[in-house]
Amino acid sequence: LRIEVQNSEKFRVVSELTSVFAHEIRNPMQVTRGFLQLLNDPDLPSKKKEYIQISIEELDRANEIIDDFLLFSKPDINNNKKVNVGYQLERVINIIQSYSLNHNVEIKTDILYNCWIYANPQKLNQSLINILKNAVESMPDGGIVWITCTTADDGYIKINIKDQGIGMTNKQIDRLGTPFYSLKEKGTGLGMMISFQIIRSFKGKIIVNSEKGTGTEFIIFLPQESQTERTAI
Ligand code: ADP
Ligand code: MG
Repeated sequence: LRIEVQNSEKFRVVSELTSVFAHEIRNPMQVTRGFLQLLNDPDLPSKKKEYIQISIEELDRANEIIDDFLLFSKPDINNNKKVNVGYQLERVINIIQSYSLNHNVEIKTDILYNCWIYANPQKLNQSLINILKNAVESMPDGGIVWITCTTADDGYIKINIKDQGIGMTNKQIDRLGTPFYSLKEKGTGLGMMISFQIIRSFKGKIIVNSEKGTGTEFIIFLPQESQTERTAI
């Protein structure tokens, strides 16, 4: 099945403010987590240790929600830079490497390094890592994720991220990108919404091919550097 996710109301831009808030919230949360760990003395009564443990887990959960939004982002800087997509893909793969090894997932790549776009690199990486993370998580028994990056004929850069995971039904694909849609026990249901939104903001498009029990393929098209209209500064 092939569904093109592009012109839908559900991918409306969430206010830039969200990312500003999230950024400011992360620091105090880290401080709180640090003190909770210090409090967690082995001699404490077990009830109290349990309370501290729950508090830490809840903080981690909140942090994951923030990660889906702004693992990389510093709000409002670096917009419209000339970005080497292959190089950014490599950075993202490095970041996710230990996570994928923990899941017995091998990442195989075939990346062309002359793929340039105009974009915000932090946002690009955020959108890629959300897709890549899902690919890894889709294979409970491990497997391979293939990533390719090439130039397409029509002035687009084409990124392909393919897994051998559980796949999706038509209905599930249709709900991709809807806020809080998640089939995972501890999912946030925000990763795809953010990814789609970012790619749309770059005037790109996404095609999702998926088959239940076989795997999923995300094909991302981004306008090549020379195709993007720019205002002279
Ligand atoms: P989360 O990962 O927190 O659940 P996402 O927005 O990232 O939220 O993804 C939403 C849902 O889409 C996932 O819970 C999963 O059911 C489905 N999904 C996304 N990517 C894949 C994939 N590569 N393979 C199978 N299912 C996927
Ligand atoms: Mg996700």
